[in-house]
Amino acid sequence: VSAVSSTEIAAALIELLGSETKVSTGSSILAHHAHDGGLIEGRTPDAVVFPESTDDVAAVMRYATEHRIPVTPYGAGTSRGGKTVPLFGGISLDLSRMDAIVAVHPDDFDVVVQPGVLRKALNARLAEHGLFFPVDPGADASLGGMASTNASGTTTVRYGGMRPNVLALEAVLADGSVVRTGTRARKSSAGYDMTNLLIGAEGTLGVITELTLRIHPIPEKTVVARVSFDDLANASKAVVALTASSSIISRIELLDAHTISIVNAHFGTELVEAPTLWIEYGGSKKAIEDDIEFGREIWEELGSIDIVVEGDPTAQHRIWEARHNFGPALWARHPGKTSTGTDICVPISELPSAIAYARTLIDETGLDVSLVAHAGDGNFHFVFMVNPASDEPALVKRIYKSMAEHALACGGTSSAEHGIGVEKQGFLLLEHGDLLPAMRAIKAALDPAGILNPGKIFADTTRA
Ligand SMILES: Cc1cc2nc3c(=O)[nH]c(=O)nc-3n(C[C@H](O)[C@H](O)[C@H](O)COP(=O)(O)OP(=O)(O)OC[C@H]3O[C@@H](n4cnc5c(N)ncnc54)[C@H](O)[C@@H]3O)c2cc1C
Repeated sequence: VSAVSSTEIAAALIELLGSETKVSTGSSILAHHAHDGGLIEGRTPDAVVFPESTDDVAAVMRYATEHRIPVTPYGAGTSRGGKTVPLFGGISLDLSRMDAIVAVHPDDFDVVVQPGVLRKALNARLAEHGLFFPVDPGADASLGGMASTNASGTTTVRYGGMRPNVLALEAVLADGSVVRTGTRARKSSAGYDMTNLLIGAEGTLGVITELTLRIHPIPEKTVVARVSFDDLANASKAVVALTASSSIISRIELLDAHTISIVNAHFGTELVEAPTLWIEYGGSKKAIEDDIEFGREIWEELGSIDIVVEGDPTAQHRIWEARHNFGPALWARHPGKTSTGTDICVPISELPSAIAYARTLIDETGLDVSLVAHAGDGNFHFVFMVNPASDEPALVKRIYKSMAEHALACGGTSSAEHGIGVEKQGFLLLEHGDLLPAMRAIKAALDPAGILNPGKIFADTTRA
């Protein structure tokens, strides 16, 4: 915790940045940046800073290093697990005002953006060129936050997550120096891959101030199939079979029967209450027709009990609603509770057994838990609604640990896309205990005073 008082920090930052509008100590703004809506408690930041340029970020970092003040970068604040929670107070560095789309290069399929650009705004702009940025974590997150968590989501099965879609970064290091990683070239073998080191670093190694992203053509046609199966094992087998085919699939999402019953109860829909896949095809009309025909063979062979195929964009939107709206349905069912989710990913062929193993553990507890999966990647979330003041969070942690151990034993990971933050540090130890000394050495090299998002990924012994 910094020895400098909140008042001194705010006054010094206003002086440095030359503007009162870039620094806030208003109680509602401080409170907004103190929590992420999850289970982790931190401290209220001393000040929230809204930089408007890379120079502003560099000035803040030089000041913070000089006075050993913690700095927690903040994008759109949609992550969970304590990543944006300032555990030691200090400065919450909110990048939302750095939201310019700097350059679109349609012929080179890349775009240069500031970190506060939100993904929906980026796609609205790219649509003018028939292009889009595919990484879709559901929430309208910022590109800087998405890079810092190595976000992925519904389209990863086809386009990959953030890592394959970021070509280059500009970042400000802890000492205020500005560095550039990567280039606009599609490939580079020039030295260590610092771009991919900063991606997924959760703001612990540098503040991302600009990103060069790969962009893709919007497919000529999109068709969505919603297919229900009589059991989860067959739905999972369908995922494996579809992934093994060369079909032009851009999304394969899965909800289980219980989750669909919650959606039906909340929205008055009449979806078949059985394990269901949402499969999106994107490509030429002819190729999609062939792939759907092949898909039908797989679905019917595996005993599908309901198949709906839609090519009309409005009808597709309605089909996706149930998948996208399970969150609000769940929250409405458990007023006052907090959601917390697992983020396991296993090799595709292990998906059926990993889900079945987790379901057995969960059912023994009697908790009300929903399943939503980016099934095409082997990534599944069990969403628990817990009372933070009860023993439920500890129970969930025990279940998650068993699930993580099972996933690791079959070649998987404890965190596919949400990152480690505070909540999953024990799992990182299980998964990469042998690498922690190297990770700590990298952290110490880039941030010797330990001021960048301290206490995240691994407990920061210089501060704790
Ligand atoms: C309904 C819902 C669904 C979700 N589904 C998915 C999903 O499918 N896949 C997925 O990956 N995630 C998902 N998430 C989680 C979340 O959207 C992602 O983690 C997202 O990438 C966070 O982006 P953000 O801009 O909100 O970042 P924040 O939450 O603000 O920050 C995330 C982390 O990045 C750091 N950070 C932010 N900006 C910068 C910067 N410029 N430089 C350095 N560090 C920075 C922060 O310090 C923090 O550690 C979901 C969230 C919600 C609410």
